[in-house]
Amino acid sequence: MRGSLKLFTWFGIPVHLHWSFGLIFLYALWIGYANNLDMAGTIWLMGFFMALFGCVLLHEYGHALTARRYGVQTQDIILTPIGGIARLERMPEKPVQEFLVAIAGPMVNVVLAIALFFLGKLLFQGDRWTLFSWILEQNLTFGDSSGEEATDILDESGIPSSGLLFYLPVLVVTNIALVVFNLIPAFPMDGGRIFRALLAMRLGRVRATQIASWLGQGIALLFIVFGLWQGAITLALIGLFVFSTARSENSMVRLDALLRGYKARDLLRPNFTRLAANDWMQTPITLVQQGLERHFLVFDLDDRLVGYLPEAQIIAAMKKRDLSAEISQYMRPDVKVVHQEQSLEYVYHLLQQQGQSVLAVADQGELVGVIDQLGLQNFLRMRASN
Ligand SMILES: [Zn+2]
Repeated sequence: MRGSLKLFTWFGIPVHLHWSFGLIFLYALWIGYANNLDMAGTIWLMGFFMALFGCVLLHEYGHALTARRYGVQTQDIILTPIGGIARLERMPEKPVQEFLVAIAGPMVNVVLAIALFFLGKLLFQGDRWTLFSWILEQNLTFGDSSGEEATDILDESGIPSSGLLFYLPVLVVTNIALVVFNLIPAFPMDGGRIFRALLAMRLGRVRATQIASWLGQGIALLFIVFGLWQGAITLALIGLFVFSTARSENSMVRLDALLRGYKARDLLRPNFTRLAANDWMQTPITLVQQGLERHFLVFDLDDRLVGYLPEAQIIAAMKKRDLSAEISQYMRPDVKVVHQEQSLEYVYHLLQQQGQSVLAVADQGELVGVIDQLGLQNFLRMRASN
């Protein structure tokens, strides 16, 4: 991915650090400065941020390794200041599998919270354990717990502001916060995916995605408004991200369902102009100016298909006033022939992703029509609107 640094590969999945991650370190330095922390305090703070993102990374591995069980590979994991993203090739389509993949991330943080809690219990005894519990409680209740016993100890030793005794309970609470936050049903956050999977069991994937996406966009707007109002920029940024992803995932799922329902024969155009390779460019230029056709198939003297002429090439010839050049000089030879029973998914792949502007459609060795980009777009627009 652009603008990111590859850290390492673990379980066969490359882990990337987004450039903006550098902001975290600047942020840590700034907090250290603003709170008059000494060198050791600032290093502890940075260590805490590293540990925090270690927890986020393990969360993403929870998703990635569960997905792998269902045959879905993960392209990479990217760490950004607003969280991690495991870029799965695709989401497993069985709702139960999507449910498990989505919930695996937060489950990792549940396990981490419990493990870190017991690590604390193991490391600290007596007064130090009382302090540990007190700091944990303070963080869980936003500083509202009384804990008289702890205050007595604190009067003697002062509140620890760094070191493991301070950061370990904070890390426990952070993991709990990660669980709670990720379970908010704002699709495509984990909670939203869980929600979609549950809905999909009853309503089907398309309808479920639509509902989950609406709810996701609604919650995302609340994140943005609340984030801007309270000055919680991270929350506002997450809101923006959730909002745009919810929209695009919804249209992707709709498109997928649409493509699956049709074949090449459903949108082929049986009437098309056959260009001869040795004809002049004047002919396609005139045809394009007349309007209807934009991309053409090209044949040789024996009426064999030898290439195609995309609109871009015709315009190039027009600009150079190269009217008397042979079509063979401008045509592209890599023309693709698809069978009329071929799925629309495949046709879409060739036209949109591989940039073929026109395809020949055949049945039993005979050309029966063409499909071009314009025709595909019109077809999708018509079908999507009803
Ligand atoms: Zn997650």
